[in-house]
Amino acid sequence: MEALHARYPFFESAREAVDAAAVDLGELVVREDAPAVERAVERVTTALTDGDVGAPRRRTRTELLSYPVARVLVSLVDEPVVTRTYAQAEAATAIERVRADVTEDADLSYGSAGEVTLPGLLDEFDLTDAVRAVEEDATTFRVDVTAYLRLSSGLDGDAWRLNRRALADGDVPVDRDELLVLLRQAVEDRVAEGLPLGVPDAIADALAPAIAQVEEVLADIDVAVDIDRVLPELFPPCVQALLERARDGEELPAHSWFSLCSFCATIGMDAPAVLELLDVTAETDPVLAQRVRYGMERVAGERGVEYPLPSCETMDAYGDCVNKDDLCAEVAHPTGYYEARVDASGD
Ligand code: SF4
Repeated sequence: MEALHARYPFFESAREAVDAAAVDLGELVVREDAPAVERAVERVTTALTDGDVGAPRRRTRTELLSYPVARVLVSLVDEPVVTRTYAQAEAATAIERVRADVTEDADLSYGSAGEVTLPGLLDEFDLTDAVRAVEEDATTFRVDVTAYLRLSSGLDGDAWRLNRRALADGDVPVDRDELLVLLRQAVEDRVAEGLPLGVPDAIADALAPAIAQVEEVLADIDVAVDIDRVLPELFPPCVQALLERARDGEELPAHSWFSLCSFCATIGMDAPAVLELLDVTAETDPVLAQRVRYGMERVAGERGVEYPLPSCETMDAYGDCVNKDDLCAEVAHPTGYYEARVDASGD
């Protein structure tokens, strides 16, 4: 087991390292103080609260083994919102690590124990032949159109549309940040692949306390965002900015749009209320009205809001944390901002 495996536990080589170590998951999870189980709980709960998977443990073995245990936990909780949020958090954390590991050196090929190289990452996802650095410009890449479409299909938004790209010879040009967004999607898909897993009863029983911890955090989140008053003037700056962009006719990227819809659903708004807030109707702007209906349907599940509004940290990573004010320094989540302002207003 190498440091690289602990940093990128979804790599095929990491799975092989776990297999080679012949770790018996059943034996591992029955130990009440198993550090890998404790870290697995942290991976999943931090995903729910902060949008990442938390600080890594120093022991490579603990850190690496916590990943398959976390996937088992997510499978046992078996809530779409948990599965999706967990996969997104693993991907967000991985890409932050990639940013730290891969510099803007022209050859993009260095790396040492515990670090990944860009060629290594592309190879991991069978993208070696599909992505090429543009000669003498290591900040621009050309992505084979098939791979581009596969990885960008969930990244709704004008900028990702093929007709907005200078497609040439079957390749789509992307800059370094865009390439990382595509790779983040590849990681998310890899993490979510095969979930929920079938889990033997003995392992499920042994993990019952860990499952309870995850469900407790999930319940707390539901309580924490239980605000049902609509006071637009008190909305956090990030949400105000997204609303403004939508009103101006901009087609927001999918993550931004779902964040906006999630906030609105969280405070009890439905699609007609959002349309009113945006000052549009199906007659004045049928396209936006349709997007609102679709977005609100997607975020609202049978058990409440199923696409949770990301934390401030994740909003920042998406570029959606803007116009911060003094209160922003005191909150970790946009709903915390709104709650604080609603409380302070006395309404
Ligand atoms: S700090 Fe949080 S609440 Fe404030 S603008 Fe950024 S994302 Fe929104």
